[in-house]
Amino acid sequence: LLGSVKEALSYGANTFMFYTGAPQNTRRKAISELKVEEAKALMKGNNIDLKNVVVHAPYIINLANTVKEETFELAVNFLKQELQRCQDIGTSILVLHPGSHVKAGEEVGLQQIIKGLNEVLKDTPYQGKIALETMAGKGSELGKTFEEINYLISHCDYPEKLGVCLDTCHIHDAGYDLSNFDAILDEFDQVISLDRLLVVHLNDSKNVKGAHKDRHAKIGEGQIGLDALVNVVCHPALEGIPFILETPNDDEGWKREIALLRERYFMKGD
Ligand code: FE
Ligand code: FE
Ligand code: ZN
Repeated sequence: LLGSVKEALSYGANTFMFYTGAPQNTRRKAISELKVEEAKALMKGNNIDLKNVVVHAPYIINLANTVKEETFELAVNFLKQELQRCQDIGTSILVLHPGSHVKAGEEVGLQQIIKGLNEVLKDTPYQGKIALETMAGKGSELGKTFEEINYLISHCDYPEKLGVCLDTCHIHDAGYDLSNFDAILDEFDQVISLDRLLVVHLNDSKNVKGAHKDRHAKIGEGQIGLDALVNVVCHPALEGIPFILETPNDDEGWKREIALLRERYFMKGD
């Protein structure tokens, strides 16, 4: 965690997202090894507010799996522990990919996610929220429409524990038109409600709208384009929520993107 704070600061960021271990597996170190107190002190000294710091659950977690019992059980058990870790660290947003139905069908997959969320959230010590991420619809991914996300939230026994992570690459790949972001937010508000929006993943996309591919591009170098992404960053309805870059970059690249977006943000404000 301390390393993540240092890295974020080196890019000129005022928030960040981290994994509690490798994103590809569920092996995790004890919280005592994450240098949490040093990390918090460094955040405090540099105006990074812990309430805007985001945790991302590992990719391999699939709550929608009904085909392999172990996969679902692993997902539920891992997530219970992850919520405990988030609570111990003090974060309040955990981003989760809803899941893939792996050929069992969308309805079955959605029901399985709801069952999983109910198990995970029952009696949890976690005071924060799980942010269900909008997905590109690659393979059998669920959460590719606002309707599916809303279905999960409204059928879960603990809707007060759920929110949304809006990923710009994913919604573009799912077919939403980012050249009209006002219309997207109107639809989001009507279908889900804007107060559910907890975090934005700001990415360009290598593929055309509706491609269902999920290949992220650098800001301004993809099919969404810089102007549309600047409109997202500057939208008054999103003020105060964390924006996270998941662009394919090196350290210098992220530093440049943050500086560029900040410059464009302040230009718009004038
Ligand atoms: Fe994600
Ligand atoms: Fe994302
Ligand atoms: Zn993605």
